[in-house]
Amino acid sequence: MAYPDEVLGSALRAFSLAALGMAASSCSAAHAQAPDPLGFHLEVADPLLQHSMGATIPFSARPRLNLDAVWWSAPRDESLKRLADRWGADEDELLELNPDLADDGAQRGQRVVIYRFEPGTVSRSVGAPNRGRIENSAPFPVGDGWTLRGYRPRSYATRQTVKELATSLAEWRERHPEANPVKLGEFSRRGGGRVRPHKSHRTGRDVDIGYVMNEPDEGHRFVTVTDSNLDAAATWGLVQRLVAGGAVESIFMAKSVQEQLIPFAALTMSESEQRSLFSTLEPDARAKKKTVIRAWRGHDDHMHVRFACTEADLRCSGAVQRKKKRRRKKRRHTKKRRRGRKA
Ligand SMILES: [Zn+2]
Repeated sequence: MAYPDEVLGSALRAFSLAALGMAASSCSAAHAQAPDPLGFHLEVADPLLQHSMGATIPFSARPRLNLDAVWWSAPRDESLKRLADRWGADEDELLELNPDLADDGAQRGQRVVIYRFEPGTVSRSVGAPNRGRIENSAPFPVGDGWTLRGYRPRSYATRQTVKELATSLAEWRERHPEANPVKLGEFSRRGGGRVRPHKSHRTGRDVDIGYVMNEPDEGHRFVTVTDSNLDAAATWGLVQRLVAGGAVESIFMAKSVQEQLIPFAALTMSESEQRSLFSTLEPDARAKKKTVIRAWRGHDDHMHVRFACTEADLRCSGAVQRKKKRRRKKRRHTKKRRRGRKA
């Protein structure tokens, strides 16, 4: 099952901050004291951030998260090999970053550097989300408003995706400090490529994100949304931030979840704005495929967020449709046969 072929978020650019109920000025005030759970701090403008397409929040108004290094605290004693497996990382590279791991690996509570940005390298997505790979990916860091799985070989994305998502989550957390943390699921592998059972998630632009639930839950599994367990206000708050960031191409979300978010969207958006955001509200079948939020089977316990291509990416596109290719092949084959018969 391949995702529909998307055209770069022309629809999302139609949304203004005002339509999404956010004023840039209030953002900058809110970010003055961004949480610093992982060595995130307000610092250094990063030129990569400027690549984000169709950004509707001025960058000066967004927190500058420094993600040049990702740290992790070992929950238990862990050998170098196990640590490398846990992160899908290379043992030698981990040793280079943490020479003291050479003897006994990591001790319980030890802070380990998992990733450090190498100046001069370009992090980018190569190819289609269901065919491609990533160059110079970065692991997603731990943080205050979200949780990651314990085992993380599939927690990598392009630096652009990491920054956009971490920024949106930090902004969301400031506005929803009481909400339960967001569960983050699959990203991509360190170098990209196949992530079973997904078709996409290959190029560091796809992320599975759990909905915000009313009840706290320590587990790592996503919880299926019912009529009563969704914190729809906080979930809408997160979706709103992601879309307002301007770097999200599409969000796959079950119709039943869209329906619970719409009353909150309706507080600040006109009917036509809501229609171009939620596929559920768009009656026209062709236009439905161009909304930012689209219904897709299996997305009633998490949303799949796809970030847009950036200038840094190579041959970046929407998902490649295998069926179409096959049909084209078949047509060519039939033509050949006919020509053969004529000859
Ligand atoms: Zn997904």
